[in-house]
Amino acid sequence: MNIPTEQQILIVDDERININILASILKADYTLLYAKNGTQALERAARQLPDLILLDVMMPDMNGYELMSKLKNDEHLKDIPVIFISALSKSEEEEKGLLLGAVDYITKPFNPAIVKARVRNHMKLVRQRKLLEKYALLDGLTEIPNRRSFSERFTLEFKRAIRNQTHLSLAIIDVDCFKQYNDNYGHAMGDIALKKLAVVLSERMMRPADFAARVGGEEFAVLLPETPAAGAYKLADMIRVSVEMLKIEHRYFPVANILTVSIGGVSLIPSTDDQEENLYEYADQMLYQAKNQGRNRVVWQNLDLS
Ligand code: GH3
Ligand code: MG
Ligand code: MG
Repeated sequence: MNIPTEQQILIVDDERININILASILKADYTLLYAKNGTQALERAARQLPDLILLDVMMPDMNGYELMSKLKNDEHLKDIPVIFISALSKSEEEEKGLLLGAVDYITKPFNPAIVKARVRNHMKLVRQRKLLEKYALLDGLTEIPNRRSFSERFTLEFKRAIRNQTHLSLAIIDVDCFKQYNDNYGHAMGDIALKKLAVVLSERMMRPADFAARVGGEEFAVLLPETPAAGAYKLADMIRVSVEMLKIEHRYFPVANILTVSIGGVSLIPSTDDQEENLYEYADQMLYQAKNQGRNRVVWQNLDLS
C-alpha cells in the first residue's frame, strides 16, 4: 500500500478571496484542491480523497453543515477530518460544527499563523493514523499483506470478477515439511526462510492487481485477477521454481534436500451463485492433492468451463 508523501487539503469556500488567503498560508507545505460549492466539494473529495477538508460554513447552495452531514454519511469520505472556517463566531455555532464531527472550528477573521499551526497538528494526526492503518494490514514478520488484508482484497476482487465476468485465479502456497525444518534448524531459521519466501512472492507479482499475502504460519495466498488458468498456473510454477532456486538447505526433507513449496490453485469466472469461501476451500483441496502427490508441485483446477 502506498501512502503519498505529499498531503492533500481540499479548501471549500464560495469566496475566492478566502480561498486565496488560505492558499497563501498552506501552499508551501501541502497540495491544495479547491471547491467553490458543496456539490463540487463532494465530487472532488470522492475523486481525490484529501487528507483534510477546510470548510466554510456559509455557502449559497449547500451550507457547510449540510455538506458535513453528507460527508459523514458516505462510507469512503466519513473519515476525512474537517475543519470549519467560519464567520459565525457564536459558541453555539462552534458547538454545532464540532458535534457534527469536525475536528476543529476556526472563526474568521483568522490569524494565519494559528491556522497554519492547527492544520499542521491535524495533518500530523492524519499521518500517524495512516501509518497505523498500514501496519494493521501488514504481516509483522514478512512485511507483506496479512490475512486480514487478504480477506478484504479477496472479497473485493471476487465481487469485481462477478460484476465484470472476468477470470479470477487463487493459489494457496504451503511450505513442505516445515515442521521438520523448524524442529531441526530452529524457529529463528524458520522465520528467516519465511521472510525469503515472502520476498520471492512479492517479486513475482507482475501486475498491479496481483496480490500476495501471508495467511497463516507457513501458508501464503496469491490472488490473480483477470488471469485465466493457463497464465495463473505458469506463474504459480514460477513461484515454486523460484523457491527451489533459493536453495535453502533442508536435509530433513529427503525428496529434495532443499526447502520447497506445494501450491494448490483454482481459476474461474465466478457467478453470483459462487462463494469466495468455496473457492478458497477448493484451492485448499488442490493443495492437499499436491502434498499427497509428493510435494514440491503445483496442482491446478480450471473451473472455467466456457
Ligand atoms: P506439509 O509438507 O504437509 O505442509 O508439512 P508441514 O510440516 O509443513 O506442516 P505442519 O502443518 O505439520 O507444520 C507447519 C509448521 O510450520 C509448524 C510450525 O513449526 C511451522 N510454523 C508455523 N508458523 C511459523 C512461524 O511463524 N515461524 C516459524 N519459524 N515456523 C512456523
Ligand atoms: Mg461563504
Ligand atoms: Mg507445510
